[in-house]
Amino acid sequence: MAKFYLTTAIDYSNGEPHLGHALEKIGADCIARYRRLAGDDVHFLMGMDEHSQSVIQAAARGGVTPREWVDRMAETFADYWARLHCSHDDWIRTTEPRHVRGVTALLERIRQCRPDDLFEADYEGLYCTGCEEFKQGAQIVNGRCIEHPTLELVPTKERNHFFRLSAYGPRLLELIGSGALRVEPAIRRNEVVRLVEAGLQDVSISRQRLPWGIPFPGDSDQTVYVWFDALINYLSATGFPDAGYERLWPADLHVIGKGITRFHCVVWPAMLLAAGLELPRLVWAHGYVQWEGAKMSKTAGTAVSLDAAIERYGADALRYFLLREVGFTNDGDFTWERFDARYESDLANTLGNLVKRSLDMIHSYRGGIVPRGAWAAPLEDAAHTAVAAYRRAMDAYRLEEGAAQWMDLAARANRYIQETLPWELKKAGRDAELDNVLASLARTVVRLAVLAEPFVPATAETVLRLFGPATPPGPIRLAAVTDPDVAGRPIAKPPILFPKLRLAPA
Ligand SMILES: [Zn+2]
Repeated sequence: MAKFYLTTAIDYSNGEPHLGHALEKIGADCIARYRRLAGDDVHFLMGMDEHSQSVIQAAARGGVTPREWVDRMAETFADYWARLHCSHDDWIRTTEPRHVRGVTALLERIRQCRPDDLFEADYEGLYCTGCEEFKQGAQIVNGRCIEHPTLELVPTKERNHFFRLSAYGPRLLELIGSGALRVEPAIRRNEVVRLVEAGLQDVSISRQRLPWGIPFPGDSDQTVYVWFDALINYLSATGFPDAGYERLWPADLHVIGKGITRFHCVVWPAMLLAAGLELPRLVWAHGYVQWEGAKMSKTAGTAVSLDAAIERYGADALRYFLLREVGFTNDGDFTWERFDARYESDLANTLGNLVKRSLDMIHSYRGGIVPRGAWAAPLEDAAHTAVAAYRRAMDAYRLEEGAAQWMDLAARANRYIQETLPWELKKAGRDAELDNVLASLARTVVRLAVLAEPFVPATAETVLRLFGPATPPGPIRLAAVTDPDVAGRPIAKPPILFPKLRLAPA
């Protein structure tokens, strides 16, 4: 079994999770579930970034200690990810001892391997507390951070430890150019290449007398800069520096948002090179969830709460909508109208309707036992074509396309019912033909449930359970979709998977 270690960005502990966080976690979860279906030995990491300065402020506002605050936030985030069926194998918090050890060990390793890469100097610059980063050049528009136009940049001057990032430009360009370090999609890779080509500056990696953070090894007056600290979570979660961490490292995939490519495709690889460690194989930078082409904003009344989005139709429907319509490549729009339209046309009218009609007919015409039927060419051939296209898309992380292929197969099966008119076959006593149609529909429903698993896991489980316990028992695999063996299987009465609700406009 091939190892597949994937991670998401870890989230700041300063506010509630929103739709943007959810898109990232759901997309990564979809990939994790797909790789498991494909037979990989998946290790999926998520977690919390708990050392930011904004934690101190948020805790003070909330009248609690930073520790109490981050504990509370970790619980809130974990609850949301559970509600959204995230299947992570590990959950790391940067305040955990295992992470503190990993950070300390990595810094010590850089100091051993490349002693000149760490040095002390004075730093003076404009600091964005939203990004937890010094800003310069094109990152500043109208005197503000482009990611945080509502925050004032803070002029900051202090003596810090630095990392000699400037030494790594040529090597990074070579690695990205050769594909040894893949950055996708291509638009993000091009941005990263332009950034590196413009020249890299050394980066400050410590803060003076910040009480909330990991002590800088060998300098008790300083703490490790929160971004430098946070990036190392991917490594410390593998057990680094203890023997055996190579079972997971290097990461096969870092899933991040497009706003943090500089850290993940430039700073992080350079840190690993300095320590003589292997680089992640692929960084995938997804786009943002928007409202009619613009950033969601509370003041403009276009911020959609994650809670309301889950409540509308349940977690599976939100997962499907975000991955199918918003997508995992570019920015995409969330509106209630589009959400309702996708829910009704795809989930209720196409998938839900197919499962209900197909299995209801097996109950009406064959006593709830899937008949033995021959290969019904039009539908079986369509299924094989769709499965192949689905796999190609999912292997290339084109989740929108994978979802489209899956849903197209459900639409094809609905048309097949209209073409074959099983109720007419029943009336005419054409039993063998009816058996073939019903058997093929049953196989297609099973296939669709397997293909659905990365997108709508709870629905997939509900449908598969209608066919009784899995034979053989164990995790479901994509191989099962080639020719699902359901002939002679008694099936349960199908529920309405996606009830149509008439909701008041939000
Ligand atoms: Zn910012």
